[in-house]
Amino acid sequence: MDARWEKVRAIVLNMVERCAVCGQRFSVEDLHALGRSRSTWAFRLTCQFCGASSLIAAVIDEEQLREARIPERAEPVTERDVEEIRAFLEHFDGDFQRLFGYSGGGSPSWSE
Ligand SMILES: [Zn+2]
Repeated sequence: MDARWEKVRAIVLNMVERCAVCGQRFSVEDLHALGRSRSTWAFRLTCQFCGASSLIAAVIDEEQLREARIPERAEPVTERDVEEIRAFLEHFDGDFQRLFGYSGGGSPSWSE
Protein backbone atom coordinates (compact mmCIF):
# COMPACT_ATOMS: atom_id res chain seq x y z
CA MET A 1 0.00 0.00 0.00
CA ASP A 2 1.22 3.44 -0.96
CA ALA A 3 2.16 5.35 2.19
CA ARG A 4 0.86 8.49 0.55
CA TRP A 5 -2.68 7.30 1.14
CA GLU A 6 -2.35 8.30 4.78
CA LYS A 7 -1.28 11.80 3.84
CA VAL A 8 -4.07 12.14 1.31
CA ARG A 9 -6.59 10.91 3.86
CA ALA A 10 -5.37 13.51 6.32
CA ILE A 11 -5.70 16.22 3.68
CA VAL A 12 -9.19 15.11 2.68
CA LEU A 13 -10.30 14.87 6.28
CA ASN A 14 -9.03 18.36 6.82
CA MET A 15 -11.16 19.58 3.92
CA VAL A 16 -14.44 17.90 4.73
CA GLU A 17 -14.15 17.90 8.52
CA ARG A 18 -17.86 17.63 9.32
CA CYS A 19 -20.83 15.65 8.07
CA ALA A 20 -23.12 17.82 5.95
CA VAL A 21 -26.14 15.86 7.17
CA CYS A 22 -25.73 15.65 10.95
CA GLY A 23 -22.80 18.01 11.61
CA GLN A 24 -20.66 15.46 13.44
CA ARG A 25 -16.92 15.42 12.89
CA PHE A 26 -15.55 12.80 10.58
CA SER A 27 -12.70 10.62 11.74
CA VAL A 28 -10.03 8.81 9.77
CA GLU A 29 -11.96 5.55 10.06
CA ASP A 30 -14.86 7.08 8.13
CA LEU A 31 -12.71 7.60 5.08
CA HIS A 32 -12.15 4.54 2.93
CA ALA A 33 -9.71 4.65 0.06
CA LEU A 34 -11.19 3.54 -3.25
CA GLY A 35 -8.59 4.19 -5.89
CA ARG A 36 -6.43 6.75 -7.60
CA SER A 37 -5.73 8.04 -11.05
CA ARG A 38 -2.56 10.13 -11.31
CA SER A 39 -3.13 12.99 -8.86
CA THR A 40 -6.79 12.23 -8.25
CA TRP A 41 -7.61 10.16 -5.19
CA ALA A 42 -11.04 8.64 -4.64
CA PHE A 43 -12.60 7.91 -1.28
CA ARG A 44 -15.87 6.78 0.15
CA LEU A 45 -16.80 8.81 3.19
CA THR A 46 -19.38 7.29 5.50
CA CYS A 47 -20.62 9.11 8.59
CA GLN A 48 -20.54 6.79 11.59
CA PHE A 49 -23.26 8.82 13.30
CA CYS A 50 -25.99 9.10 10.68
CA GLY A 51 -24.70 6.71 8.02
CA ALA A 52 -24.67 9.32 5.25
CA SER A 53 -22.29 8.18 2.54
CA SER A 54 -20.61 10.08 -0.23
CA LEU A 55 -17.84 9.75 -2.77
CA ILE A 56 -14.93 12.14 -2.68
CA ALA A 57 -12.39 12.83 -5.40
CA ALA A 58 -9.40 14.83 -4.19
CA VAL A 59 -6.91 16.27 -6.66
CA ILE A 60 -3.63 16.38 -4.76
CA ASP A 61 -0.29 16.80 -6.48
CA GLU A 62 3.12 15.58 -5.34
CA GLU A 63 4.10 18.95 -3.93
CA GLN A 64 1.07 19.01 -1.65
CA LEU A 65 1.90 15.50 -0.52
CA ARG A 66 5.43 16.47 0.42
CA GLU A 67 4.19 19.41 2.44
CA ALA A 68 1.35 17.56 4.09
CA ARG A 69 1.62 16.86 7.77
CA ILE A 70 0.52 13.49 8.98
CA PRO A 71 -1.49 13.59 12.18
CA GLU A 72 0.23 11.81 15.04
CA ARG A 73 -2.59 9.35 15.44
CA ALA A 74 -2.50 8.03 11.89
CA GLU A 75 -4.65 4.96 11.37
CA PRO A 76 -3.15 2.00 9.56
CA VAL A 77 -4.73 0.92 6.31
CA THR A 78 -7.13 -1.89 7.03
CA GLU A 79 -7.85 -5.03 5.09
CA ARG A 80 -11.23 -3.57 4.34
CA ASP A 81 -9.56 -0.61 2.64
CA VAL A 82 -7.56 -2.96 0.48
CA GLU A 83 -10.65 -4.96 -0.40
CA GLU A 84 -12.54 -1.82 -1.35
CA ILE A 85 -9.70 -0.62 -3.54
CA ARG A 86 -9.46 -4.00 -5.21
CA ALA A 87 -13.18 -4.07 -5.89
CA PHE A 88 -13.05 -0.50 -7.09
CA LEU A 89 -10.13 -0.96 -9.45
CA GLU A 90 -11.64 -4.08 -10.99
CA HIS A 91 -14.40 -1.98 -12.43
CA PHE A 92 -12.87 1.47 -12.63
CA ASP A 93 -11.57 2.63 -15.99
CA GLY A 94 -10.19 5.97 -14.86
CA ASP A 95 -13.23 7.97 -15.93
CA PHE A 96 -13.95 10.07 -12.88
CA GLN A 97 -16.47 12.20 -14.69
CA ARG A 98 -18.62 9.19 -15.34
CA LEU A 99 -17.97 7.88 -11.84
CA PHE A 100 -19.45 10.98 -10.32
CA GLY A 101 -22.24 11.30 -12.80
CA TYR A 102 -21.30 14.51 -14.53
CA SER A 103 -23.77 15.24 -17.27
CA GLY A 104 -22.28 18.23 -19.02
CA GLY A 105 -22.83 21.42 -17.03
CA GLY A 106 -25.10 19.92 -14.44
CA SER A 107 -23.92 19.88 -10.87
CA PRO A 108 -22.81 16.50 -9.60
CA SER A 109 -24.76 14.76 -6.91
CA TRP A 110 -22.58 13.62 -4.04
CA SER A 111 -25.07 11.64 -2.10
CA GLU A 112 -26.13 8.13 -2.88
ZN1 LIG B 1 -23.68 12.38 9.71
